[in-house]
Amino acid sequence: MDLESVSHLRRYLMIKKIQTYITLVGGGPACATAAIQLFRSGIEILIVTERIGGTIRNANLVENLVGFPQGISGEDFVMLMEEQLEYSKIPIVNDKVKSISRVNEKYIILAEESEIISDFLIIGTGSIPRKLDIKGEDEAFEKGKLFYEIYNAKGNSKGKEIVVIGSGDVAYDYSLNLSKITKKIAIIQRTDKAKSLPILQKRVEEEKKITVISNRIPYEIFIENGKVVLATKTEKEVNEIESDLIIVAIGREPNIEFLSDELKKEYEEPKDESNLYFIGDVKKGNYRQVSIAMGDGMNVVMEIVKKLSRKEDYDGAPRQVW
Ligand SMILES: Cc1cc2nc3c(=O)[nH]c(=O)nc-3n(C[C@H](O)[C@H](O)[C@H](O)COP(=O)(O)OP(=O)(O)OC[C@H]3O[C@@H](n4cnc5c(N)ncnc54)[C@H](O)[C@@H]3O)c2cc1C
Repeated sequence: MDLESVSHLRRYLMIKKIQTYITLVGGGPACATAAIQLFRSGIEILIVTERIGGTIRNANLVENLVGFPQGISGEDFVMLMEEQLEYSKIPIVNDKVKSISRVNEKYIILAEESEIISDFLIIGTGSIPRKLDIKGEDEAFEKGKLFYEIYNAKGNSKGKEIVVIGSGDVAYDYSLNLSKITKKIAIIQRTDKAKSLPILQKRVEEEKKITVISNRIPYEIFIENGKVVLATKTEKEVNEIESDLIIVAIGREPNIEFLSDELKKEYEEPKDESNLYFIGDVKKGNYRQVSIAMGDGMNVVMEIVKKLSRKEDYDGAPRQVW
């Protein structure tokens, strides 16, 4: 056996093999809500997630959740969510899922360090940021000069000059969040009309560290003398903006890359009889809000419990060990 085969075999032997009744892939508000309710229903479950929290960890101030009269920062909200999952003793495997397929009506979830077989599967993997798709973008990302999520960028942002590309809620929210620690922020947008909520536009207008630069179309990024340069163009001119870091916030897409072709098809055309469910931001056509993600999580649990209660063998469904 050659060295490569030996290392493959070693990795295979180290992989944890788990069988469970319901697997939830994702640890954001959608899966956390569904997991807590399923656990309360006494059904055997397992969460597999890269990390508990999800995209809300990026949020400056969440003001649209009932129960938090002054709003709550994304990071504090995630801390409370973690505390609640821990309190409820929800079983969690921290791992990155690489592929999911269905074989003989069972779901096979292959992650970096575990392999899970499950009767039901709930997917709440949220969204992934859209890329600009311009020259130099990948290189700037690899060199730590460009980010798509601010919780990854925050550690490098103190006292720095930052360019944020985008005109929606996320770009404006990132800018307000970073303005607490950075020196200067320029928001670069394609037109002179921001797409973000009026309340965020007003706060950006009032924040002296933030400047909004409109009608610029990014076309190249390069690194020069330790700085990152964004080249933009309009019909009439070409401009270059130098900064320490670039944050790209131009929209997000459902995170479903790891699904087999069969399951991707089912994502597009859901089947009533299937035991596969999508909840939260990953769900096709969903509006991206925490309360919608949580409502989805709760709704799916109600559907599953109803489905199980119609089955004669419901009492035989694996129960959680309390
Ligand atoms: C800057 C910003 C501000 C926001 N502000 C607000 C706000 O004020 N109010 C509001 O209602 N909404 C807000 N949102 C939207 C909100 O964050 C989302 O709607 C919500 O987090 C969706 O929850 P979710 O559980 O569906 O997905 P997510 O929160 O995205 O969670 C996805 C989970 O899946 C896991 N995951 C992904 N891929 C894998 C994989 N391959 N293997 C294992 N695990 C994986 C992730 O680690 C994560 O735990 C904001 C979003 C952003 C970016």
